[in-house]
Order: sequence, then C-alpha cells, then structure tokens
Amino acid sequence: MQPNDPQVRWLKEPELGWTGKVYLPLFVEGMRTTLRHLVGPKLTVQSPEERHEIPEPLIYRGVHRLNRDEQGRVKCVACFLCATICPAHCIDIVAAPSPWPDRDKYPESFTIDELRCIYCGMCEEACPVQAIELTTLYDLTGKSREEMIFDKEKLLSVYDQTKDAEPIFQSWPLPAVSAEQENAQKK
Ligand code: SF4
Ligand code: SF4
Repeated sequence: MQPNDPQVRWLKEPELGWTGKVYLPLFVEGMRTTLRHLVGPKLTVQSPEERHEIPEPLIYRGVHRLNRDEQGRVKCVACFLCATICPAHCIDIVAAPSPWPDRDKYPESFTIDELRCIYCGMCEEACPVQAIELTTLYDLTGKSREEMIFDKEKLLSVYDQTKDAEPIFQSWPLPAVSAEQENAQKK
C-alpha cells in the first residue's frame, strides 16, 4: 500500500488548548487521585504483625499442598499431569507401584521447587483427583535454596496445617440441566 493510496486515512494530532498547554487538567486529576487515596480505605497492613486478609481464598495462589484422602494417605495417583503442564518445570515426581489396591501408582517422591514456581495454578487445574492445591499461605521464607524445595512430607504437612481453614475444593457447581435440554442432548 502506497502513502497516496485513497484508502489511507491520515490523522492529525489534535491541537492543545491553553488548559492542555499548562497541564492544568492533568494536575487537577493528579490531585483528585491523591486526595481519594488520602481519605479512602487503607490497603497497607503492618506485616508480619498483621495478617493480610485474602479476599477470595479459593482463587488465591500461594504455597502448594498435597492433599490426603479420608484414610490419611496421599491423594496423588502419580499421573504426572501436573508435572507435564507446569510451565516452570518445577515439579519432580518419582512414581512407584501403589501399596494400596484402589490405585495403580503413588508418588514415592514428590518435590516442588517453590523458588522456580511462578504460582500460575495450572498444576491444580490439571490434577484429576484434587491432590495438589495452592493455599492462601503467602509468607514463604527459607535460609537456603535447598530449604525451598518442598518434598512430599513437607507438602503433606502444609495440608495438615491448612485443611481446617481451607477444605479440599471439590468442584464448581454444575448448572442444572432442564428436562428439555436433557431430551435435546439424547436426540
Ligand atoms: S503453580 Fe504453575 S509454576 Fe507453580 S508448580 Fe504449579 S504449574 Fe508449576
Ligand atoms: S496431577 Fe494430581 S494426581 Fe497427577 S501427579 Fe500431579 S498431584 Fe498427582
């Protein structure tokens, strides 16, 4: 396409009026924002003395946990879906034949490098049995890199620590299907 093509529409930069030239509207807008924050609700908390209240714990993506089933066993069935989908390649699983009759495999070892993780939440989305979840724990500290690689026991202990406040998420409620919709699906 040439610059003189009739289909090309040239736009001119709008000319500034005198208020624009003295930056008055921008100055007033800036002052309005400052005053709004001065009198508005304060978002800062005095951490660590004060805890930040997570407004929506279900969708918060903090430290991971490995969930236990009703018998206290690790829920994970070592399917590797979380490790496969993880964009940061920070999940490492060693699978072994399960000692229990209700599944083929279980994770003999399960580690997450919490320093490599980008807390995207894709591992919990991918898990078919709700075995891995991200909690609302956000103050994650350690004295060495090795300490920040959470093994199976540590991940299970995060579950023990958080299970009362954050029960295992089952599933989103499915919308009710009407009799007409059900009949239409059968056709
Ligand atoms: S939250 Fe994302 S980056 Fe972290 S372990 Fe899960 S999938 Fe990987
Ligand atoms: S997706 Fe779930 S069941 Fe599969 S390996 Fe990961 S935590 Fe275990």
